[in-house]
Amino acid sequence: MTDPALDPTIDPRRLSAADWRSFLQPLEFAILRESATERPGTGRYLEDPGPGAFHCVGCAHRLYGAEHKFHSGCGWPSFFQEVDPGALELHRDVTHGMIRTEMRCKRCGGHLGHVFEDSPWTPTGLRHCLNGYAVLYVPKGADIKEVFRLHRRA
Ligand SMILES: [Zn+2]
Repeated sequence: MTDPALDPTIDPRRLSAADWRSFLQPLEFAILRESATERPGTGRYLEDPGPGAFHCVGCAHRLYGAEHKFHSGCGWPSFFQEVDPGALELHRDVTHGMIRTEMRCKRCGGHLGHVFEDSPWTPTGLRHCLNGYAVLYVPKGADIKEVFRLHRRA
């Protein structure tokens, strides 16, 4: 058992690519572990699933609250802030001929998306442009492990 979402004693930073592949879906693996980007308009959670939180699909670290989600029209789920200061790591990303700020999960280091300063109508002015397949929605009050257990089997 190597799944850091189901066993909090596992250090996800020590997992091999083969470990990650054993429980992530192929697109989840490509995004989190290989910094791929889902095609716009094709990801999870373009519509609001309801009250609750969005957790890293790799390690179950809580990243975003539903109350911080907004509709940017960019084709990916958008948030104006992370759920708390311990959620993310930010990195400078100079790939693809652009200078961008990359967001990674603070627990497992998985790639999540990028932050843009282009949404002045939100409380922060920021758009956290998130790959929907990088996260799993946990409804308010639900058991996090149970939601992950069901998702891993799907
Ligand atoms: Zn993670």
